[in-house]
Amino acid sequence: MATRKEIRVDIGKCTGCRHCETACSLKHSEEGMVNPKLSRIRVFTDFEREMAHPIISGPYTDAKCTSRYNIIMDGKEYESCLLCRASCPTRPFFTEPDTEIPLKCDLCGEPPDPNCVKVCVHGALQLVEVEEDDAESA
Ligand code: SF4
Ligand code: SF4
Repeated sequence: MATRKEIRVDIGKCTGCRHCETACSLKHSEEGMVNPKLSRIRVFTDFEREMAHPIISGPYTDAKCTSRYNIIMDGKEYESCLLCRASCPTRPFFTEPDTEIPLKCDLCGEPPDPNCVKVCVHGALQLVEVEEDDAESA
């Protein structure tokens, strides 16, 4: 069975430190500058509940989403847009600020060597190997 690597997120361990955003933007900035807008991972923080949700960018779609709905987690409703991995025309996340090129996680190259996983000392991000049939579409 063919396998591939992907990053598994455990939001229960995320502290919202955003070191992953810094590490990703450093990896993808030609000047070696920290710019979270270049990061392929964004941490959405719910200050009211003191919860953080790391979202890793997925595929680009040029279609405007027509199936907006809310997600309920632990009894609280979140807009699905906030937690979506796609880069799309209706949302500024995961778009390169100057060129508007969509940003997609490339696992930091081949073979995968994710900077975000390396700096996440809290264990919220983990590189795992999954069988293709069990893998989520990326
Ligand atoms: S580095 Fe880890 S703990 Fe910190 S915000 Fe990113 S995923 Fe969460
Ligand atoms: S694996 Fe690399 S490209 Fe993907 S989110 Fe982490 S640091 Fe960014």
